[in-house]
Amino acid sequence: DEQTRIKRIASSIRVIPNFPKPGVMFQDITTLLLDPKAFRDTVELFVERYRDMRISVVAGVEARGFIFGPPIALSIGAKFVPLRKPKKLPGEVISEEYSLEYGTDTMEMHVGAVQFNDRVLVIDDLIATGGTLCAAIKLIERAGAEVIECACVIELPELKGRERLGDRPLFVLVEG
Ligand code: AMP
Repeated sequence: DEQTRIKRIASSIRVIPNFPKPGVMFQDITTLLLDPKAFRDTVELFVERYRDMRISVVAGVEARGFIFGPPIALSIGAKFVPLRKPKKLPGEVISEEYSLEYGTDTMEMHVGAVQFNDRVLVIDDLIATGGTLCAAIKLIERAGAEVIECACVIELPELKGRERLGDRPLFVLVEG
């Protein structure tokens, strides 16, 4: 059942303390990818949730949103749109700057990849402070489209990133 699948997913994620810097408990999903059953269950739990929600675009956040997004998009018959780090996309882009603990980062999306009438699911591996998903939401809403939901494999609830998403729903499988 669902709880059994979620437990298997949770136990397949490796936690590496003090990576990439002291104090961070890094949630490593590469070990989830080494367990084909856990990987399949992860994708299937998202597909079960989204297949009847008329999602037209799955937007994946670089880099680990590029692992979970495409199999979900293919399965529900949606387009996949990559949201990328700066200067990676060759066409005309719109950009959104967002703040990190130290400094800022930028996320980019191709102009025309998302249309005003699209119903978008944003996917990443993990939500911490919510800054990354906020930037993704802004890009999609600037294109005139609707963010139906954000989805992550893992939520770090102590960081209250969910509160930064306003009224866009957030769906997660496990808490870290
Ligand atoms: P945030 O913008 O603070 O919500 O951070 C989320 C982004 O940073 C995601 O793309 C995650 O992959 C990455 N990230 C932040 N904290 C962690 C963590 N503890 N373990 C793994 N990835 C993380």
